[in-house]
Amino acid sequence: MEKVVALCKRRGFVFQSSEIYGGVSGLYDYGPYGVQLKRNLRDLWWRHVVDLRGDVVGLDTTILMHPEVWVASGHVQNFVDPLRQCEGECKKRWRADHVTGDRCPQCGGPLGEVRMFNLMFKTHIGPVEDSSSVAYLRPETAQGMFVDFKNVINSMRVRVPFGIAQQGRSFRNEITPGNFIFRVREFEQMEMEFFVKPGEDEEWFEHWKEERLRWYTDVLGIDTEKLRLRDHGVDEKAHYAKASTDIEYSFPFGWGELEGIASRTDFDLRAHQEHSGQDLTYLDPESNERYLPWVIEPAVGVDRILITCLLDAYDEDEVKGETPVVLRLHKNTAPVQVAVMPLSKKEELIGPARDVLDSLRKAGLRVEYDQTGGNIGRRYRRQDEIGTPFCVTIDFDTLNDRAVTIRERDSMEQVRVPIAELVDQLQARY
Ligand code: ATP
Repeated sequence: MEKVVALCKRRGFVFQSSEIYGGVSGLYDYGPYGVQLKRNLRDLWWRHVVDLRGDVVGLDTTILMHPEVWVASGHVQNFVDPLRQCEGECKKRWRADHVTGDRCPQCGGPLGEVRMFNLMFKTHIGPVEDSSSVAYLRPETAQGMFVDFKNVINSMRVRVPFGIAQQGRSFRNEITPGNFIFRVREFEQMEMEFFVKPGEDEEWFEHWKEERLRWYTDVLGIDTEKLRLRDHGVDEKAHYAKASTDIEYSFPFGWGELEGIASRTDFDLRAHQEHSGQDLTYLDPESNERYLPWVIEPAVGVDRILITCLLDAYDEDEVKGETPVVLRLHKNTAPVQVAVMPLSKKEELIGPARDVLDSLRKAGLRVEYDQTGGNIGRRYRRQDEIGTPFCVTIDFDTLNDRAVTIRERDSMEQVRVPIAELVDQLQARY
């Protein structure tokens, strides 16, 4: 993990938030390569959960919502973690379910009584800061989908079974943020509420477990051996869940939840129907049955997927006593798809190199240009370090044979390709 954290800072993936002021625990910024990687992950999720299916529609709801939403959903009452504070020297706060025994894991001091701590950040809407203006920063995007359920069924020609998907920021005042961007206080979620007829929930639950697991292996290229599905025990399930399964990854600190898939019954729609007094039932146009659909929800944080991709891709090569880093990111996720580099800074190579760069950019590839002029091996290694699958080199022979060299990251194989065929050849590799 330390190596990946160092790489993230060194190469512009992730920075500590407000670092020049000493940082804030549990808050991170994304640098240029991190932003691109994150964007790729979001797009790949949207493509597979929404675009390629036809039975899921998108939504974008606000972070601040009516405070009653969180009363109805149970978050005001139940979105709490058990907290124990060290009463010895360090005064550190711990999640009671993360420590064993009655002594502080840090300084060995005694731990205080268990207190319940609500994870929602509070704020106020409007200029008056009293109890009537309290609002919360949403701790999940899911409630937006339930609250807008009626609007979606009335405005779209959707029929159960169908899903509503959303990506956006969520906030949780975690007691112990940590493991870098694994557990943070502000993060980005991708959630999908899939509405089904009561009684058909079990088959859809199985469907989504398989679909989501396959997305990690086939689309992101995550190592199958490091992924597993783990069903929640009875005592572990959230207050709304009939059944829950986590997709877990084998992190350096042990198996951890990457994504949660929950069978939520009609808990949320029913709660909002009761609290709002609005009818949220669905009328089946064929059978004329009226009911509250049940829900299967795959929910994940982009930040968590991003750290998983980086850990999974991290590798070190052994080259002449040095150990350069290679990020073996899947082609779908790599922030830069092709790096273009003239062999030297000489004017006669820069022109053709820029032309090649332009043609690749116009073809829709994410490209980067490197004309630092240093040793080409070193420049390849800089690209390996950020996971770029292909480098294209323009050398002095290019001026005569109108061909360039494609160098592949993992095999380090180099092939000579006519410039006229370059776009096709690269696109064929994507
Ligand atoms: P935990 O029990 O670990 O606190 P949770 O089970 O409450 O987490 P969910 O409510 O199921 O988490 O959240 C859905 C997904 O959102 C998680 O699988 C994870 O990918 C992401 N997520 C949740 N909390 C955080 C966080 N603090 N930082 C980053 N991602 C998070």
